Amino acid sequence: MVELIPSPDTVMQILKRTGAFREGHFIYPNGKHSPHYFQMPLAFRYYDTARVLAVALSRKFRLEKDISSQLPKVSIISPSSGGIPVAFGVRDALNAEQIYWAEQEKGERMFRQYVNQGEVNPCIIVDDIIRSGNAIEETVTLVKSLGARIIGCGAIVRFDTAPNEIEDVPVKSLIEFDVRMYEKEQACVECKDGVTPETVRF
Ligand SMILES: [Zn+2]
Repeated sequence: MVELIPSPDTVMQILKRTGAFREGHFIYPNGKHSPHYFQMPLAFRYYDTARVLAVALSRKFRLEKDISSQLPKVSIISPSSGGIPVAFGVRDALNAEQIYWAEQEKGERMFRQYVNQGEVNPCIIVDDIIRSGNAIEETVTLVKSLGARIIGCGAIVRFDTAPNEIEDVPVKSLIEFDVRMYEKEQACVECKDGVTPETVRF
C-alpha cells in the first residue's frame, strides 16, 4: 500500500490558501510581536482540506508499530476545542475506537465527558497546533491519572520551540515551524521596517 504524506510545502500552501497561516506583522495578547500568525480552525472549516490534513497526520501515526499493533483499541484525545476536528479526522482515518476532548475549567484541564478510571484505551493525543506544549503536557497528566498509556502525540503544526518528544513518544507533525517571536518591539524586524501591525485576539 502506498502511503503518501504531503510535503511540508504542500501543507503550508493549504494553510495559506485557507487563511490558516498569514504573514505580516502581528501583536499577540501577551504583547509579543511576530511576522507569522496561525489560525488553524480556518483550514478545518473546509471538509476536503480538513480530511487531507487529518489523513496525512494519521499516516504518520500508523507507521509507528506501537500504534498500528493496537488499533482499533486506541483512544484519540484532543487537549482543547481547537484539536477536536483533528481528533475526529484522525480517529476516522485510523478507525480508532474512542475519542475524547479536554477543556480548561477554572484553570484546570479536564474531560467534560464522564470518564471512569481504566476506561480509556491507549491514547494518541492530537492538536491542531503545538506552540509551547503546555496543553499537551497537561493532557498527558490527565490521561495518566485515568490509568491510560500514551502511545502517540502530534499536530498539524509544531513550533520548533515546543518539545519534540512527550513521555518517550515522538511528537509527529506535518510542519515543524521555525517560529519568530519577539519579546519587545525594539527587536521586531517588522517594527523597524515600519510595517503596520495588526493586534490579534488569540
Ligand atoms: Zn513589531
